[in-house]
Amino acid sequence: MKISALDLKKQIAPLRQEIDAAIKEVIDHTSFILGAQVEKFEQHVVEYTGAKYAIGVSNGTDAIALALLALGIGLGDGVICPAFTYYATAGAVASIGARPVFADIDPDTYNISLASVEKILAKKNKFRIKAIISVHLYGQCADMDGILKLARKYKLKVVEDTAQAFGAEYKGKKAGTLGDCGAVSFYPGKNLGAFGDAGLILTNNAAIARKLKILRNQGNENKYYHLVLGRNNRIDSIQAVVLDIKLKHLDEWNRKRQAVAQYYNENLVKLGLKTPFVPRYTTHIYHQYTLRTSKSNKKFMDYLQGAGIDSRVFYPVPLHLQKCFKYLRYKIGDFPEAEKAARQAFTLPIYPELTQEEKDYIIQTLKEFIGGL
Ligand SMILES: *Cc1c(COP(=O)(O)O)cnc(C)c1O
Repeated sequence: MKISALDLKKQIAPLRQEIDAAIKEVIDHTSFILGAQVEKFEQHVVEYTGAKYAIGVSNGTDAIALALLALGIGLGDGVICPAFTYYATAGAVASIGARPVFADIDPDTYNISLASVEKILAKKNKFRIKAIISVHLYGQCADMDGILKLARKYKLKVVEDTAQAFGAEYKGKKAGTLGDCGAVSFYPGKNLGAFGDAGLILTNNAAIARKLKILRNQGNENKYYHLVLGRNNRIDSIQAVVLDIKLKHLDEWNRKRQAVAQYYNENLVKLGLKTPFVPRYTTHIYHQYTLRTSKSNKKFMDYLQGAGIDSRVFYPVPLHLQKCFKYLRYKIGDFPEAEKAARQAFTLPIYPELTQEEKDYIIQTLKEFIGGL
């Protein structure tokens, strides 16, 4: 049997006619960037999330960078983010000339450790720390109350990296609506995926929303009058119509992912693997279903892949040890929990259309591997 990490063909098939018609309409109207279709999608995201404003942009990485810029973060400013996340969280920080300041993670949730953040903030340091990015890793929210409390105490802006958690809820509120800005990615493999690159920023602040609209579009509000140094970070109309159709199904898809996760949990908890821990303050939409072993995650991944199951290691190298961040001068041992997670965490395929047979094959394969250890 062959089971991929995600099967978009199965997701798209039942929506194909509707999507084809919507794309045809964009072509007929020849309005390809921003415009009415984008505004319609943004309005639907406002209704879905309860955020006051939604600003469509080119991708999730740009969403983070623009959010930071709109919040006044720039050259030489320090931005705290977890050492264990996708590269883009810190890449976006560095792309605007700011400095990633890494913090360790909580070993149970894989999200940023408040104790580690507090330690960084409490000591006198040379970085002008202006903001914190809370990443909602794998699909569940970080401890936002704790983060917002620290942000108030130290006068920091808060950007929520909601790339993996669009649709998850923190105490009944949608992820991305609690901080100053929420940055969303619609990369095709995310729970809500476009047909290419796309992203979006959520905010409840009218002035920030206005700034973001100017920044995403070359710094102009009216054509050819450039108020600030903006960027080309616009969203395409074709992506907006595709996303608008898919958005109606997101909650149902996320519920199906939760059901798969529950089935995995029930069957795997006895195997000595650590199943995902979900604190009471958040829902989990299982962008990734992540297990943890006290042995080597790579061995698990290799065995599963050998059996045709597309298991992955997210992420094999924590950011403070990546070559590209060498200039920040971190070293092995600086963030022990991030380093441990990089050695121990691995994923199982999870998506709404996964069949009973496929789930059972995955569980059976894991049992065989563990039995043979
Ligand atoms: C996917 C992702 C991003 C970047 O989104 P893109 O749309 O690919 O630019 C940022 N942060 C995290 C945690 C992600 O998973």
